[in-house]
Amino acid sequence: MAYSKNQLLDIEITDMTNEGEGVGKVDGFTFFVKDTLIGDVANVRVTKVKKNYGYARLEKLISPSSFRVEPECALARKCGGCQIQEMDYPSQLKFKENKVKNNLIRLGGFSEELINEVFEPIIGMTGEDGVFRYRNKAQYPIGYSKDGELIAGFYAGRTHSIISVDDCMLGVSENAPILKAVQEWMKDNKITAYDETLHTGVVRHVLIRKGFSSGEIMVCLVINADKLPCEEALIKALTSIGFEDSKIASVSYSVNEADTNVIMGDNFHTVCGSDTIEDKIGDLKFKISPLSFYQVNPVQTYKLYSTALEFAALDGGEVVWDLYCGIGTISLFLAQKAGHVYGVEVIPEAIEDAKENARLNGLDNTTFFVGKAEEVLPDFCAHTNSYPAKHPKVIVVDPPRKGCDSACLETMVNMAPERIVYVSCDSATLARDLKYLTDNGFALKRVRPCDMFPMSIHVETVVLLSRVEVDEDR
Ligand code: SAH
Repeated sequence: MAYSKNQLLDIEITDMTNEGEGVGKVDGFTFFVKDTLIGDVANVRVTKVKKNYGYARLEKLISPSSFRVEPECALARKCGGCQIQEMDYPSQLKFKENKVKNNLIRLGGFSEELINEVFEPIIGMTGEDGVFRYRNKAQYPIGYSKDGELIAGFYAGRTHSIISVDDCMLGVSENAPILKAVQEWMKDNKITAYDETLHTGVVRHVLIRKGFSSGEIMVCLVINADKLPCEEALIKALTSIGFEDSKIASVSYSVNEADTNVIMGDNFHTVCGSDTIEDKIGDLKFKISPLSFYQVNPVQTYKLYSTALEFAALDGGEVVWDLYCGIGTISLFLAQKAGHVYGVEVIPEAIEDAKENARLNGLDNTTFFVGKAEEVLPDFCAHTNSYPAKHPKVIVVDPPRKGCDSACLETMVNMAPERIVYVSCDSATLARDLKYLTDNGFALKRVRPCDMFPMSIHVETVVLLSRVEVDEDR
């Protein structure tokens, strides 16, 4: 039977894609339906029909899935930031475990038996920490509604229209009064919001960061002007907000006059308080500037890094490499146990932060290099005579979503570490890279996902590989 656009159908959702869309069949023909869950029976409207499958939109739930929960946020479907907020948390964790397993089996070519053997349960957030309000960073675009009213919010789905959000449930509760104060300051002082299409107006974004351990909050306004107007009034508006356990420790602005959708400018100017706020992960202190990359879920970051450290199984004295090290968070975690840690990161400012953080924590057994891992690593190996640096005990990698470059993987294999710890934010590229490493002398030992982003489809995974010859020597 042929289906047509706008046709209404009843469907039972029997599966889900890795992107969190429900999948169901009507007389053998597959439909993908956003906002539905396994177990839902729903009335849906066909939006697109292809040769072998189609897309449909949820019209009405006929019988909801037993995994369905009332979303905390009224904008959960519209906003696009949370793809699976209507799924109960235990099911979210199952969904993420299955996603990692499926990618390793389908894309990595590993047997189901092996994956089941090495797979460990996902590290979720516990009830005590709560599964909302986990983000330490929020970036709100400022603009106008259709009626010309000043709003702060998020871009809807993949679009560039801002929907007004007073209080995102993933962010800290301090965000809402801060945004309100900024908007009032704008109205009182007739300061305009940026208009993307016309490239006019002043305030583009408000960046808010909080050090969970210190209670210090940073507010940075991204502006389309060379100087922040009415500075004193802004400082007054922000510092007079009364918070319970936190305080505004830094107010700054970043100039971004470019016609681009990159949020931050390449600069920032502090107008009140200090340039950085402090946070702690475990025993380590970090100074964070508006421009630093820093993991957004500090509670889970601690668990993620602890897992990486456990997999690295350091007993002191070893040389370790930490590739894609960012501001050196994992490097410093490792340096607490290792003999020497070499970190590599492509962004120069992040390496400046890494060095500063190493000093702050008194960890001088670290060396950081700026550059691409796939260039720094082979180059280093070609020019050093130090055997331990060239042949480290452990290599840790934490690449961006596209995974490791093949030249990087090849060099890692040549360096022949005993263990490789792979921290991944994309299990598809992880599967591809693990296939290469297991084809080249390493064996898959442990796989443990970690939920850094409840309510979203994203999942982080920590993997331990060990060199096969090392296993055989034992
Ligand atoms: N381990 C860090 C950062 C992980 S994010 C943490 O947990 O905080 C990945 C990092 O890889 C980013 O900082 C990004 O700038 C960096 N990066 C991207 N491509 C790179 C490359 N080719 N070589 C080295 N670093 C790279």
